[in-house]
Amino acid sequence: REWCLALPKVELHAHLNGSVRDSTLLELAKQLGDKGVIVFEDVKDVIMKNGRSLPECFQLFELYHILTTDHDTVTRITKEVVEDFAMENVVYLEIRTTPKNNEAKGMTKQSYMNAVIKGLKAVEAVEVVLFDSNSRTDKPLTCAPSSELGGDVSKKKIYVKLLLSIDRRETTLAALDTVNLAMEMKDQGVIGIDLSGNPVVGEWETYLPALERAKQLGIPITVHCGEVANRKEIQAVLDFCPQRLGHVCCLNDDEWKKLKSLMIPVEICLTSNVMTGGAPSLELHHFADLYNVKHPLSLCTDDSGLFSTSLSNEYYLVASTFGLSKAELFQLAQDAVEFVFAGDEVKKTLRELFRRAEKELT
Ligand code: 5GP
Repeated sequence: REWCLALPKVELHAHLNGSVRDSTLLELAKQLGDKGVIVFEDVKDVIMKNGRSLPECFQLFELYHILTTDHDTVTRITKEVVEDFAMENVVYLEIRTTPKNNEAKGMTKQSYMNAVIKGLKAVEAVEVVLFDSNSRTDKPLTCAPSSELGGDVSKKKIYVKLLLSIDRRETTLAALDTVNLAMEMKDQGVIGIDLSGNPVVGEWETYLPALERAKQLGIPITVHCGEVANRKEIQAVLDFCPQRLGHVCCLNDDEWKKLKSLMIPVEICLTSNVMTGGAPSLELHHFADLYNVKHPLSLCTDDSGLFSTSLSNEYYLVASTFGLSKAELFQLAQDAVEFVFAGDEVKKTLRELFRRAEKELT
């Protein structure tokens, strides 16, 4: 476990509101309980429950959003989530989050994202690098841009990039708004689009115009795919050929064949899939098959708070379940660099970081 913690890691599939610390959720729930907005005792049990079905997860997200959706709280959870990932040696992090309109809180999608960025700037425990050195702008962001590694060894560095999620409950217009916002914020660390939300809600055709627009604009896309056995949609997603796919649990033989021939990198979320029933068990998880055929993969947490996991733990699970050696685990972590949405400068720096770490760790 210690070795997995020391391993430098790349996290490509982490939902902001699913990665919040339990202690923070409990504190926020207590405050809202004191104000009479919620009944704390009921909420406490829901937060602390272990093991959740997929529908229960989406009920819980409703609660998370009640607890977290005001600007200051969004800023706070962003700061904490980045610090938590950095503390376990995640060197590159793509956080995805759904920009939210909330009239009651005076919140727009834009102001929500501004609160997220404020959270990134508020991180003190580690140095947050938001820019590729070649795409830096003159915007007055306080996070020190740096591609130098090992300069200040007393402070860890973490690259953070943002993906904007389209929630499957949204309309075509709302999804287009999110893509436009991603375009407007591309100089502020936003580098991609995600499609997520309850997989039994909504139709692929609703989001397709927004995803097509993102494609036209050259914004990389990742899609939650095959969390449920929706044959028509899985086919459509594979035909659309996003830059990456999340989960890919319920594929049939033809769809596996197609995925493998397309070589679309897959964000593997072991604990999440087992807990929500997307995979029957760790041992029978599709990681093994994809790994054995050398399909491009990266291990991810999905919702480290919700599923009480960490990226180090996901690596440990792979080692203990599938018997990967340290050298193989290292290679798995290193390979993820090739699937990041950030540009070549960042990739180059990350490759160098892994080259240096290899000497110490293998
Ligand atoms: P947020 O976007 O609010 O920061 O993060 C929580 C949201 O991410 C949830 O409301 C949901 O839309 C999405 N999400 C988190 N985990 C999952 C997952 O495992 N599957 C899907 N399809 N969506 C998820």
